[in-house]
Amino acid sequence: MKAYERLIKYASFPTASDENNEHCPSTPTQLEFAKALETELRELGLDEVTLDENGYLFATVPAVRGYEDAPVIGFIAHMDVSPEVEDKNVRAHTVKYNGGDVVLNDELNIVMSESEYPILKNYVGKTLVVTDGTTLLGADDKAGIAEIISACEILLADETIPHGKIRIGFTPDEEIGRGADLFDVESFGAKWAYTLDGAMFGEVEYETFNASSLKVEINGKSIHPGAAKDTMINASVVAHEYMSLLPTLERPEHTSGYEGFYHLTHMEGAVEKAVLNFIIRDHDFSKMEYRCDYARRAADELNRKYGNGMVNVEIKESYRNMKEMIVPEWHLIDNAYAAIRTLGGEPISYPVRGGTDGSRLSFMGLPCPNLGTGSHNHHGKMEFACAEAMDDCVMQVIEIAKLYAKK
Ligand SMILES: [Zn+2]
Repeated sequence: MKAYERLIKYASFPTASDENNEHCPSTPTQLEFAKALETELRELGLDEVTLDENGYLFATVPAVRGYEDAPVIGFIAHMDVSPEVEDKNVRAHTVKYNGGDVVLNDELNIVMSESEYPILKNYVGKTLVVTDGTTLLGADDKAGIAEIISACEILLADETIPHGKIRIGFTPDEEIGRGADLFDVESFGAKWAYTLDGAMFGEVEYETFNASSLKVEINGKSIHPGAAKDTMINASVVAHEYMSLLPTLERPEHTSGYEGFYHLTHMEGAVEKAVLNFIIRDHDFSKMEYRCDYARRAADELNRKYGNGMVNVEIKESYRNMKEMIVPEWHLIDNAYAAIRTLGGEPISYPVRGGTDGSRLSFMGLPCPNLGTGSHNHHGKMEFACAEAMDDCVMQVIEIAKLYAKK
């Protein structure tokens, strides 16, 4: 079965994760999808198919004879989709793209315009998988799942393709940042892996942000405003002051490329108490440490002014840039590039302004760069995948497996 046909089938499973649910998986629908995938993997004849109680689905394509000593490599994708956009009643279908705008929904007049989505120009003459414009497609990351399973199907059917043991893993709750939390690296048992969770075929991502959360709690001093002179400390005003100490141009809306930022994600305040929540991001770890230090110094400054304990800062690391774990395993990038070139593609790497499950997994002992899936406009109603690009992504898995079987 073609990867795009699998994607259309998988898109009918609603699998949005839910950050307000602390269970794993965070939604029972993900487990239903995992069970359907489990059945499919067994029917295809994969080995060592396991689905644990947290919704992690692992399986094996055994090495072909003579290649049992090749290193075990893994391919990973996530089963949940973004909770930001409706994912129920997805009507995925194909359209032949001949250039120009794509009418997704005649009745509701929903159009994916070429001017707004110039990436479409890469796909003239190709087959696109789209929705009716009212829901997500869920190609992020069901395209990755479809490609990995289609690659397994080809490998299992053709004994002449040399490859070592291949492990595949499908994970829950990536979109809410928990995909790696309960990933059992040891039982997965691969030396290295790739996530298929990117956009364009040819993408190879190995640099992510370093990420921390910053919570600033401000304790004010409330008193009747009529008698407040020289006594009141208004926590909301101090919060504003804290905010003004952070560099104005180092916010998401003013940064790109390798530029890091402080991003205010939430605030609440009264006279007695105020809380500011930020996320801090930077690709460079020493700059990241500087940023965290700066956030503490800003609090120190205000504590000197208003008295100790007035402003409390709590910083928690969320994930680290995987680059430092990938550089010593540079063959991962070389082999991905070589596979893409073999298929006539042009490899491209750029720093991800976010994280992937791979950033966490890389630090858990499973170095794990990210590959494209031939899909675009993730997390939105204009999401689409290209059937031919998905085929390339299937072959990319196979070519990488072949490269790791080279003696
Ligand atoms: Zn994803």
